[in-house]
Amino acid sequence: MSTTQTPEPPPRPLGIDDLPVRDELRGQSPYGAPQLDVPVQLNTNENPYPLPEALVERIAERVREAARGLNRYPDRDAVELRTRLAEYLTRTGLAGTAVPPLTAAQVWAANGSNEVIQQLLQTFGGPGRTAIGFEPSYSMHGLIARGTGTGWISGPRNEDFTIDVAAACEAITAHRPDVVFVTSPNNPTGTAVAADAVLALYEAAQAVRPTLVVVDEAYVEFSHRPSLLPLIEGRPLLVVSRTMSKAFGAAGLRLGYLAAHPAVVDAVQLVRLPYHLSAVTQATALAALEHTDTLLGYVETLKAERDRLVGELRALGFDVTESDANFVQFGRFEDSRTAWRQILDRGVLIRDNGVPGWLRVTAGTPSENDAFLDAVRDLKKEQSA
Ligand code: PMP
Repeated sequence: MSTTQTPEPPPRPLGIDDLPVRDELRGQSPYGAPQLDVPVQLNTNENPYPLPEALVERIAERVREAARGLNRYPDRDAVELRTRLAEYLTRTGLAGTAVPPLTAAQVWAANGSNEVIQQLLQTFGGPGRTAIGFEPSYSMHGLIARGTGTGWISGPRNEDFTIDVAAACEAITAHRPDVVFVTSPNNPTGTAVAADAVLALYEAAQAVRPTLVVVDEAYVEFSHRPSLLPLIEGRPLLVVSRTMSKAFGAAGLRLGYLAAHPAVVDAVQLVRLPYHLSAVTQATALAALEHTDTLLGYVETLKAERDRLVGELRALGFDVTESDANFVQFGRFEDSRTAWRQILDRGVLIRDNGVPGWLRVTAGTPSENDAFLDAVRDLKKEQSA
């Protein structure tokens, strides 16, 4: 009698958990909005408009010039770029206030606002320290906290996704975090935060001990409300972070920045890698800053498209969260994952941020938004058939 042996299963490929990685990274997944090749991509809050040709030319010119000096390290302190960013912030965020113009000493730049946030957490968070955010909010705040060994506290929000100021202050008093994140407009909900709410959180945090409060204004150029930037005046532990990924339409550039007291800017120098911002990045960002007026013109178009999406989704019977950003959160779905897939099957990629019952769509060009609206209309029709 012949015995048949069960074949050995193929060896399991080596995985992360087989490596001696830090304990808190075991079993975790990296940040990953799907990058799928579908005709309409409205899932990562990018600006749908390519940079204007005149700016592309200017970038080429500035980068060519920078290329001649690439044998040398770049300006480690990115002084010219920080000066231009300070001017941009003064013009757009401080206009009509009594706050004095910002200087380069109050501005810091890095490779995307994610790196700005990482540097802040490396400086003010870290092992044995904690940070709090009011969720649902930008998931990278918690992920970057974890990556820097900072404990993460998930603070509360109201049913309508606004911040419950009293509950948030209580959470701050109870948990005594070292860093507080306030995202305004918030991602993924689009909700803006009023200045007095930020001030209440700032006071609650300082009443425990000196605490860094980071206002993440990645989407502020799309807001109906003015920037919270004037609040940094007289508040040395209040930081406003910004990005060129959204309003400037330059997500591929990787340029984020912050405005704060010069002492905070000095403090992040303790953790930044030397020469972290390449000469090519600095040259490209400087070129983009020469074209802010054109770029902010696209922002106006996107704001109108955002408002159109809100109106049309409501007319279709969806619940829609008030949006001050370039995206719209809508629902409610019994199963948001299935609805996300059904919209994807119609050629439109939007985002399931894991907020039960809700999905998020980025405002695209008018024709992309039409394609999205056709897809959800079709879905509604199918469901009511
Ligand atoms: N903050 C918020 C609230 C965001 O949504 C994003 C990007 N989705 C970022 C920061 C990071 O943007 P970047 O690193 O491209 O500047």
